Amino acid sequence: MNFDKDIQDNTTIFGKILRGEIPAEKLYEDDYVLAFKDIMPKARVHVLVIPKKCIQDLRVAGPEDAEILGHMMCKISEIAKLAGLDKGGFRIISNNGEHSGQEVPHLHLHLLGGEFLPKF
Ligand code: AMP
Repeated sequence: MNFDKDIQDNTTIFGKILRGEIPAEKLYEDDYVLAFKDIMPKARVHVLVIPKKCIQDLRVAGPEDAEILGHMMCKISEIAKLAGLDKGGFRIISNNGEHSGQEVPHLHLHLLGGEFLPKF
């Protein structure tokens, strides 16, 4: 799969990061996903994992996204290891839509850890 057009069309701040127009502290990148440090960390370690395909959030994801979403989930263990989260563990959060407080309308997983997190 090639996501060059999605990356060009992505009007969000994450599109700018994908295109290299603004800097980000990247941890991992492949043809499908990019992982980078959150600019306003909500835990000692806070990484965002995003698909390169334009998917606003999980409300609009469908069977056609199975491959890229599966890839994202399967890469979490590798990204967590790169972030130093493999031993202590981590939490994944995904905000979807207005009620969740989603600010950036491009699907992303928050990967949080590096300390004991408040009980959810
Ligand atoms: P959400 O509220 O779930 O949409 O999360 C958006 C996240 O993107 C927030 O945690 C922000 O701190 C983060 N964020 C926004 N702009 C940037 C940026 N330029 N680099 C890294 N993270 C960002």
